[in-house]
Amino acid sequence: MNDKIKEAKDKIAEDLKNIMDENTLQQVKAKYVGKKGLITDLLKSMRDVAAEERRELGKKINEAKNHIEILLDQKSDEIKKVLREKTLLEEATDFTLPGRGMPIGAKHPITQVMEEIVYNFERMGFEVAEGPEIEMDYYNFEALNIPKDHPARDMQDTFYISDDIVLRTHTSPVQVRVMQNQLPPVKIIAPGKVYRCDSDVSHTPMFHQIEGLLVDKNITFGNLKSIITQFINLTFGENTNIRFRPSFFPFTEPSAEVDIECEICSGKGCRVCKDTGWLEVLGCGMVDPEVFKSVGYDTEVYSGFAFGMGVERITMLKYGVNDIRLFFENDIRFLRQFV
Ligand SMILES: [Zn+2]
Repeated sequence: MNDKIKEAKDKIAEDLKNIMDENTLQQVKAKYVGKKGLITDLLKSMRDVAAEERRELGKKINEAKNHIEILLDQKSDEIKKVLREKTLLEEATDFTLPGRGMPIGAKHPITQVMEEIVYNFERMGFEVAEGPEIEMDYYNFEALNIPKDHPARDMQDTFYISDDIVLRTHTSPVQVRVMQNQLPPVKIIAPGKVYRCDSDVSHTPMFHQIEGLLVDKNITFGNLKSIITQFINLTFGENTNIRFRPSFFPFTEPSAEVDIECEICSGKGCRVCKDTGWLEVLGCGMVDPEVFKSVGYDTEVYSGFAFGMGVERITMLKYGVNDIRLFFENDIRFLRQFV
């Protein structure tokens, strides 16, 4: 017995000498202190030892066991240390290498122009209002003086979800929703996405509109002209020539379309302005009393004006882009020009 204990104590050092990985270490560990290991066997064979020797032998075996376990732990620490140093060396960073550079994202031109327009109106005291893109037929048409059989419904090729639910064809329903919940004065702009079944060089099935509404006592067409003129000057420059041209919208009366002088030909006429010298920017007008009636406003006391514009159209005019689809193809070479 004593020999066996001594042998185990002597041999462990030799067994551990050349081990450099955790797997082999575990095998050695099993050989000595595992279920079928040398020390375990020795402890088991204690039952055959005479009672008077048992105490002394047990002490020796436990000493040997402690000795072996300390050596195993030391070896384990050594292996981990070597591995850590190796990893650090392999993953070392060379700080003298030039940087790779991180590409920085930018806002889409439509978002940029939309934010600019919103900011310009906020400077004039307008507040932003929002409404749902999936809208009731009532808010999108009926309440805006466009009943079921109205020819203006044909002007706006509508995506129907059901008989009385549509994807909104304009941001005008937001006006109605705001007026239903608020007494005058109202001074809002409603930016957002709108949808129409239409697709060519100047139309996409989804595009962005900004709608404005101002309602109070004694609001006249003069107020409308003043606000729109200020807006055009802020967006297209102080010296932009503007004209108001009579038009028709079901929810305003009288109605007008606003043109700016073609910058390319200075009003002389060219291909872009179709030889008219003018470019259409937005539609506007005095709110039709029928719309006020649908939200319960007293038409004897209150009057107001509304206007609406396509953000893509404004962006195209501002930057001379001739195909609306470019905004949605997400060609980075195109988008990068607006950064
Ligand atoms: Zn022109």
